[in-house]
Amino acid sequence: MIVVLKDNPDQKQLDNLVSWLKSMGLDIHFSKGETATIMGLIGDTSTVDIDLINSLDIVDTVKRVQEPYKNVNRKFHPEDTVVEITDDVKIGGGNFQVIAGPCSVESEEQVCLVAREVKKAGAGLYRGGAFKPRTSPYAFQGMRDEGIKLLLEAKEQSGMPIVTEVMDISHLPLFENVDVIQVGARNMQNFELLKELGRIDKPILLKRGLSSTLQELLMSAEYIMAGGNERVILCERGIRTFETATRNTLDLSAVPLLKTMTHLPVIVDPSHATGISGLVKPMAMAATAAGADGLMIEVHNDPSSALCDGAQSLTPEAFADVMRSIEQIRPYAYRG
Ligand code: PEP
Ligand code: MN
Repeated sequence: MIVVLKDNPDQKQLDNLVSWLKSMGLDIHFSKGETATIMGLIGDTSTVDIDLINSLDIVDTVKRVQEPYKNVNRKFHPEDTVVEITDDVKIGGGNFQVIAGPCSVESEEQVCLVAREVKKAGAGLYRGGAFKPRTSPYAFQGMRDEGIKLLLEAKEQSGMPIVTEVMDISHLPLFENVDVIQVGARNMQNFELLKELGRIDKPILLKRGLSSTLQELLMSAEYIMAGGNERVILCERGIRTFETATRNTLDLSAVPLLKTMTHLPVIVDPSHATGISGLVKPMAMAATAAGADGLMIEVHNDPSSALCDGAQSLTPEAFADVMRSIEQIRPYAYRG
């Protein structure tokens, strides 16, 4: 349920309303926008008397919210959320960011070289997998804690904030100096992990599950926000369909649709969505045009020798070319 307040509501009446709602076991989420203040009521509102609330002097309108996601719902928070990663690096609400880097951290030389290259081309954040979710237990599993150390070295050298994936709650202490924690597609519905990430004070990049609906993605974001962590970024990275010509099928309509459903920033990963390096540029351009708040792109200094996802990785030169094309498209991007 949302309660839209009139301008400058009487503070005493507002306090009374809030304590009455809280006494019914509801949580209240305030959103003060430029035009109105909205109270989002979270919990079981089935016994709340909507007419009674509507009759109060301080209340403009009351509406029931049908969707099961509340904190992430745009109805609760009409303005775009801007996720602050550092003072200079923000995403959402007109702030566009490109996250680039190798699929996995392989060596100090590789991770520092690619960081220099993507920074030069204009990336705002650096990515690299230390813990890798691989289909085969015999495939390279990532450099794990050593990989995080190397990423922190690249962060130190390049000045870029870093993004890396967590696969297990018990690894979280290793992520203390990581700027953005990624939840990969395979863990999108690891609810215990999501609850734990709701309790920490770091931005979370939540990737859409391989066969998840948008509502399921939003419910996973709701887990994080319900715990008190409001810095969530969503990522469309392709879904499983009957098509096998591409690794996944990029659901670009998810971008403008998600942005009507939620106030959270939405980025697109054309690398995992297609699995083919030659498709990364057109899909990065299309995602930008569709109104994405950013992109995540895999870049490797020598894709043919990459330990993971070489076929979808761009060389630093190809990445710089994509960045130039994106800059040209951004002024024409769909804004709703
Ligand atoms: C990744 O970004 O490294 C990754 C494994 O992606 P996804 O979880 O989308 O497959
Ligand atoms: Mn990858």
